[in-house]
Amino acid sequence: MSKDSTLFQKILAKEIPANIEYEDESCFVIKDINPQAPTHILIIPKKPIPRIAEAKPEDTAILGHLLATARLMADTLHLKKGFRIVINNGQDGGESVPHLHVHLLGGRPLEWPPG
Ligand code: AMP
Repeated sequence: MSKDSTLFQKILAKEIPANIEYEDESCFVIKDINPQAPTHILIIPKKPIPRIAEAKPEDTAILGHLLATARLMADTLHLKKGFRIVINNGQDGGESVPHLHVHLLGGRPLEWPPG
């Protein structure tokens, strides 16, 4: 694994420990290490797209698959009362890991607008 690998590539390569809750050919899912709700997971493409602003037209199927997987995980985790899907992009968006990921949060009422 190259020294330029992202945190999430290192997790996928098992260089950094994490429980992989779900995995398929193009994405994987882990629990967020600093959960902001009773359920807080990250749906991560295996392709290290840095952020959604840098997704290319050929990444459209991956973007759709991330959302479809978030919806599947919401079902699997029984988030019947609702949930929130978030993508942070760039400095003002609160991004801290430069490898695209979709947050799925649920298990408590979530306020709007976010901070
Ligand atoms: P963002 O701020 O949108 O880039 O989200 C990055 C998320 O990754 C944060 O919610 C962190 O808590 C989470 N995170 C950072 N390191 C790890 C890790 N080793 N395992 C799981 N989640 C992590």
